[in-house]
Order: sequence, then C-alpha cells, then structure tokens
Amino acid sequence: MKYHTITLLALLTVASSFAQNTTEEKQKSVEDYAATITSKELKEMLYIYAGDDMRGRMTGSKGQKLAVNYLKDFYVAQGINSALKDGTYFQTVPAQYLTRLKEPADSENVVAFIEGSEFPDEIIVLSAHLDHVGVDQNGNVFNGADDDGSGTIAMLEMAEAFQRAVKEGNGPRRSILFLHVTGEEIGLYGSRYYTENPIFPLENTVCNLNTDMIGRIAPDKVDTPNYIYLIGSDRLSQELHDVSAQIAKKYSDLEIDYTYNDPEDPNRFYFRSDHYNFAKKNIPVIFYFNGVHEDYHKISDTPDKIAYDLMAKRTKLIFHTAWEIANREKRITADKL
Ligand SMILES: [Zn+2]
Repeated sequence: MKYHTITLLALLTVASSFAQNTTEEKQKSVEDYAATITSKELKEMLYIYAGDDMRGRMTGSKGQKLAVNYLKDFYVAQGINSALKDGTYFQTVPAQYLTRLKEPADSENVVAFIEGSEFPDEIIVLSAHLDHVGVDQNGNVFNGADDDGSGTIAMLEMAEAFQRAVKEGNGPRRSILFLHVTGEEIGLYGSRYYTENPIFPLENTVCNLNTDMIGRIAPDKVDTPNYIYLIGSDRLSQELHDVSAQIAKKYSDLEIDYTYNDPEDPNRFYFRSDHYNFAKKNIPVIFYFNGVHEDYHKISDTPDKIAYDLMAKRTKLIFHTAWEIANREKRITADKL
C-alpha cells in the first residue's frame, strides 16, 4: 500500500509539472521571442549578404539579383508569405523609374508579410534598403556590411522571431510588412516607388520603422558605445515617440540618442533614408541609425568590423517596439498633423 501511495504521488507530481510546462509554453512572452535574435545568427547571415559574391548589390546589377534571391529564399524557408498575390516576393521597380541609374535595368523591392490575427488591415512596415553601391573602377567590392547589410539582416531576424510567435499562437494582432527596398543609394527610389504604388492602402499603414546602419560604433561614441540614434519618432506622432521611449526603457539598456532628431541638425539624416518617403505621406516613422563612421561608403565597410552583440541589442529594441505597436489595444495615429 505504501509503495502504491508513493507511486501515485509521483505520478501526480509528474502530471502537475507537465500541466505547468504546457501553460508556460502558451504564456511565452515578447522577451522569449526577442531572445531568438542572436549575434551568432546575425553574423552568419551578414557574412553571406555582405560577402564579395554579392558584388556590392548595385541596383539592377547581377549582385543585386543574388541579394533579392537570398532574401526571398529566407522567407520561403521560414514559411513567411509574399505580400503579393502572385507569390513572387518581388515588387518590380521598372528601369524607366530609376532615372539615376547609369545602365538602365529593372530592379525590385522584396516584400514579405505576416497577417495580423485581429486587425489584419492595419499594417506596420519594417524597412531596410537591400542595395548598395557596387564595385569600384578596379573591381573592389563595396560590401556595405553596415550600409545596409546590418538593417537587412536585422529584419530577417525580426521576421524569424515574429514567425515563431505565429507558429506558437502568439502572432501579432496587426499585420507586418517586411519591405526590403532597392535603389536607396541612388536616391531613395525603392521606398518612393512603394509609397506611390503601395501594396496595402497608405491610410491603413500605421507606421514605418526603418533600419539603416545599426552594426557599427561612430568615432565620437567609442567611449560610450552602448547607444543608438533615433530620428523622426516625434515629428508626426507624439504617441509613437512616447511608446518607443517607454519600450526602450522597459526592455533595453541602450542609450537612446536623439541628437540627429534636432530639426536644426546640419546632417539632415531625417531626409536621407527610406522612412522619409513614408513621412512625406504623413505616416509616422522611426529611423534607427548608428551614425556615420570612417568606413561609410568605402570598400572597407566589411562584415568583420560589425559589433554583433551591439547589433543584436539594437535589433531587439526595434523588435520590441514593433511588437508593441502591432499588439497594443489602439492603433498609433499621426496625432501631430
Ligand atoms: Zn544606407
């Protein structure tokens, strides 16, 4: 009898711990998903994406075609759908639109999509430019590891984290468009094309979080490298700015530096990356940026110089912000218009 009692107790203990485990599985938090964003994976992918084989990803070139196929293959492997009904993942930007291209050629934005579970028509756009400046006269490759290999690969890691949440029943309530734009370096063409030919109505586009250069430390930040510059967050929406600041405080120990958000700042970074095309259409934006550095637009912007742990922290911050905007009760609005 005693023996049996013990067995029964043991069985009950096992059963109750099993029940606990299943509950824990269901109650996974945003932090669990953020934790799947790792410096190791960022590094592995960035070495490929900014490798010499991609030939500097000049808009319309063979290298750029390799790059878009790399992105498409990633989304296919993750089971993340195209944002287009034809399932191609490629929004063609025609050669005649790319007026500053020396050798006319069609190019393409890469578009992947996770549909929201409750408010599928409300779209959060995550963006990064997929192109760079090609090769120099001597055939040296501009790898563009930071610009903007870093933002591109950060988006893939975020997509993977969101998709894992979807698979476990914790997908975002609003939809997320992963928009890899082409033609940035020749004049923000891909993002302009998207905002003029949107796949989803712009009035349903909640905000654009744009990531362009998040893998390096600017020379004036060498002594305080735990930072990221945020630009534009309060220009159209105080609500977006406040949510972004709260999330940063709650989930990140990064110093959020708003120096370049000053409208008087002579660098005018607010106008210099793809988010600006969304801002022009009155869609609230945040631009995530590490500042310029000695290898900016040089052949020395290589993947070995990226600070991967820092890049992972910055990616997690953007992920947390996107998660909050996608899941909060009410949609963010452009309350400063
Ligand atoms: Zn860039």
